[in-house]
Amino acid sequence: MADIVFRNVTKRYGNTLAVDDASFTVNDNEFFCFFGPPLSGKSTILRLVLGLETPDTGEILIGGRPVNAMSPAERNVAMVFQNLALFPHMSALENVRFPLVERRVAEAEIKRRVTDVAAKLHIGHILHKPPGQLSGGERQRVAIARALVRDPNAYLMDDPISALDARLREETRVELKRIQRELGKTLIYVTHDQEEAMSVADRIAILEDGKIRQIGTPAEIYDRPASTYVARLLGSPMMNILRSARGDGGVEAAEGTIRIDDKTAPADAVEIGLRPEDIKVRPWADGGPGRPARVFEVEPLGGYTVVTLAAGQARLKALLRGQPDIRPDAMVAISCEPARVHYFEQSGGALAR
Ligand code: ADP
Repeated sequence: MADIVFRNVTKRYGNTLAVDDASFTVNDNEFFCFFGPPLSGKSTILRLVLGLETPDTGEILIGGRPVNAMSPAERNVAMVFQNLALFPHMSALENVRFPLVERRVAEAEIKRRVTDVAAKLHIGHILHKPPGQLSGGERQRVAIARALVRDPNAYLMDDPISALDARLREETRVELKRIQRELGKTLIYVTHDQEEAMSVADRIAILEDGKIRQIGTPAEIYDRPASTYVARLLGSPMMNILRSARGDGGVEAAEGTIRIDDKTAPADAVEIGLRPEDIKVRPWADGGPGRPARVFEVEPLGGYTVVTLAAGQARLKALLRGQPDIRPDAMVAISCEPARVHYFEQSGGALAR
């Protein structure tokens, strides 16, 4: 069992609150992702888990044992660093063996563990090569193998694939998810890429200025963001958030250009949120339901199209399937299912209906 628990953990650097009263549990075998903008505290949390930093207040437990007073070695948590720093003068095999040789593990045991890890990471056929002859993705797998060969309680990754190009990143994140599932180990993963967080994580913790704003599965956070801050962080294009007011029989936004027929809308809502994929767009001439808006810009992206709409003074982004025949300056009718509308209060918090 290697669950990782933070209880009211705070870490300051001078006047900076890097981690502010953080409490969370990463379950055994979970792929747990910290996501947030730069300087929100992600790396500090990893360093606190590793034991490179100690909390000012609060308690950290790994596998049920308090670790505040334990050295990094005693915690046995492995880190896969961002720069994938392999030793260039050693072969991939020597790189993977290194942590065990360093710990004077018996040769037979080294062979057994290296063979096991190499099979799981599909790198048996490249172990004879030096890092310079490996592709970015192969180097990635060798670096992970080197971290895992120690058989750690848990492993941590700090933005491990941000240096790769876009296509390789997509491949590698699928690979990482598969590896984590096969290894059955607790993984704490830091990323600043929202798509990556959504695609790999069992659960995500959203950070802002050292504070945890929401923890949940990707679907929970996407469908029920706790605040406008969280709502804007996940989703591309991001959620449209508009000032709103109660009108006849519902909620109005964008100078009445948008009307949501929702008698159950919470009374203290001051903003509504509409995901781009929840906005329906029809040609105005069709006469169907919907409010008038003007097409401002059209971005065809192959499988889908982003349409920017001018509704009153507001600009909205809608995400449509395929490549609909919509041109700039056309009038369209827009609508949104009331059940898909998000409501927010003055402070930005989400409101239940
Ligand atoms: P992230 O990983 O999300 O970019 P960090 O954990 O690196 O965020 O940083 C959180 C905050 O703590 C930032 O304001 C950063 O400037 C500060 N910080 C991090 N490490 C140090 C340090 N060693 N000394 C001083 N301030 C630090």
